[in-house]
Amino acid sequence: MQVRSLPVVQNWDGHSCGDCCRSYAVPVTADERRRIEAQGWEKLPEFAGVPYFVKRGGEFFLNHRADGGCVFLGLDKLCRIHGKFGSAAKPLACRIYPFLLVPAGDHWNLGLRLACPSAADNKGRPLTEQLHDAREYAAFFESTAAPGALTGPPPALQGRQVVPWGDVARIAAAVSKLLADDAEPFERRWRKVLFVVATLKKAKFDGGGDPKKAVTAGRLSELLHVLGEAAGDDEPDTAEEVKRPGWAGRTVFRQLVAVFSRKDHGAEKGTAQRGPLRRFVSAVRFATGCGVVPKVHAALPDAATFAAGEVSLGPLSDTSVSLLARWHRVKVESLQFCGAPNFGLAVWEGLESLALTFPAAMWLARVLAAGGRTPDAAVAQAVRMVDDNFGFNPLLGSARQKFALRVLANRGDLTRLVAWYGRTQ
Ligand code: SF4
Repeated sequence: MQVRSLPVVQNWDGHSCGDCCRSYAVPVTADERRRIEAQGWEKLPEFAGVPYFVKRGGEFFLNHRADGGCVFLGLDKLCRIHGKFGSAAKPLACRIYPFLLVPAGDHWNLGLRLACPSAADNKGRPLTEQLHDAREYAAFFESTAAPGALTGPPPALQGRQVVPWGDVARIAAAVSKLLADDAEPFERRWRKVLFVVATLKKAKFDGGGDPKKAVTAGRLSELLHVLGEAAGDDEPDTAEEVKRPGWAGRTVFRQLVAVFSRKDHGAEKGTAQRGPLRRFVSAVRFATGCGVVPKVHAALPDAATFAAGEVSLGPLSDTSVSLLARWHRVKVESLQFCGAPNFGLAVWEGLESLALTFPAAMWLARVLAAGGRTPDAAVAQAVRMVDDNFGFNPLLGSARQKFALRVLANRGDLTRLVAWYGRTQ
């Protein structure tokens, strides 16, 4: 299938920071294990007695050294497999990161994980120049996937309400346009999107069985445009005019933030994640929202309190706004927010789950800024931490977290959270 890059301008190239080689548990297939075992690393003294792989839950992963780095990561932060045998000799997971390939009917959408510092900083060549590599990865997935697994129907809008792939793309394009609107504060862009989503959740698209009345193709684009305009009239102009989220909403939100902030493995693993007792204490603290924020990620400051998460960062700089907009537009345009890439969430729920990452990142940025980071550095770090979990932390796909998201959306707290944590005063 063809690989399509995104309309949003996003750049990336590896800058040899070695972050991903210290952060992730990299899965390796039997073929990849055989290939690496035949590379002769055991002849080097530093590999004496060092297993290349560890087995967890029936799966093999690259082993890590005591400093948290992959056993093949050199002191120069470069991959030794890549250096000696070339990129193709590495496990596929290493080669493909931070790209994401999302099947979208008859093509792939090329997405990107902004958990990678170079992706968050927009450093490197445009993604449009990297389609050659992406096609190679896509060909591999096509050759290993079960027949029909990649060309299935699109994710439902909700329940059993399914529209063609082209209409899902129209919805994504309309949402991306709202998120790109530089004339609006970023939080208000999301409130407008949530207004459109809430309205369309009540709509039927099939015209009651009459194809002439079906809301599809151009008619859908028109409806999305009209609703976007109506959102501008309906949503209060400033975040300060929006009601504060209720106690219950903030309690549920903090528990979701705990999941979005955490790192469970690698060099950035939080100390609060070490052992069941610490994890329990950490969960209780996030539920109560009192005292010092548990260090669920190594990047969190030692003594920042939950109170710091309620103090505004002030107006966001153009740099931070452009990062937030690029981040979310990449997720929307690639369709990473729904379907298989996001735990099977339907389209509307997927957009709500993505909306939640905005207040989550802003809360986190406030806590990071309380530890001494500049607001821009805090926002960039927060985006990387939240994106690391979005669509990948299995806890976010659990029935409990999906229920929590539904509660926030249905009570109207999601919009209030967007405004509350997006306010500048
Ligand atoms: S094999 Fe190479 S690219 Fe993959 S994690 Fe190890 S050092 Fe990094």
